[in-house]
Amino acid sequence: MPHLLNVWPSVSRKLSGASRVLLLFDYDGTLTPIVARPEIARLSDETRRLLSLLAGMDRFVVGVVSGRGLADLESLVAIPGLAYAGNHGLEISGAGKDFVHPEAPAFEETLAEVASLLVQGLAGVPGIVVDSKRLTLTVHFRSTPDSYSEQVDDTVVATARPYVDAGRMKITRGKKVVEVRPNIDWGKGKAIEQIRKNCGDSPLPMFFGDDETDEEGFVTVQDAGGVAVYIGGTRQNTKALHQLESPQEVAQVLALLTQL
Ligand SMILES: [Mg+2]
Repeated sequence: MPHLLNVWPSVSRKLSGASRVLLLFDYDGTLTPIVARPEIARLSDETRRLLSLLAGMDRFVVGVVSGRGLADLESLVAIPGLAYAGNHGLEISGAGKDFVHPEAPAFEETLAEVASLLVQGLAGVPGIVVDSKRLTLTVHFRSTPDSYSEQVDDTVVATARPYVDAGRMKITRGKKVVEVRPNIDWGKGKAIEQIRKNCGDSPLPMFFGDDETDEEGFVTVQDAGGVAVYIGGTRQNTKALHQLESPQEVAQVLALLTQL
């Protein structure tokens, strides 16, 4: 898997050849370093400046595609002119037209119930965060001692089991997170397609991400002839054809993009 900066001349030629480029980024672990608690993940001044600059350029459409709730994501990033996709794309704003997946709101009540059961069930676990995001929920255990990891996962599985067995919910996992999501065939890949469709002119897509739920986004952009970039140390099983080591290197690429 080539490091993106090593093959930048050929990638930048490809991007320059497109009339418009859709630049999409995961948030945590991609634009910001992974931190102990989700609420303290902040964009660096430099990344913020570069994203704003790119968003103001005619040749780019810029967006963030995250598992966070949409309102949380919008308030953390807070750059005008961006497209925002929250809850793994179940809700999208600022991409030409606002979107909520039509099947998603029906799950809100059940997810709230599962969240309150999890708050009780995980009450004794140090450092746990149960983040109820209306359309999905995430249990964060980054600040939790590793000895609790299995208990956390088992508790989420057991609590969500009736809904999973009924085909209504699904469980997904990422870096120190377990999530309960509606069992809808919709994720970051579909969200990227939706944002691209809203652009109207099928811009060349480029997507940066660091985790399991980003994989379908990688496939979507590569199938559309675009560029997928995995953020992290070299991983065997990512479908992305390019790699960057860290959010700091993502900022370097943002600077290169402003010179395109
Ligand atoms: Mg991430």
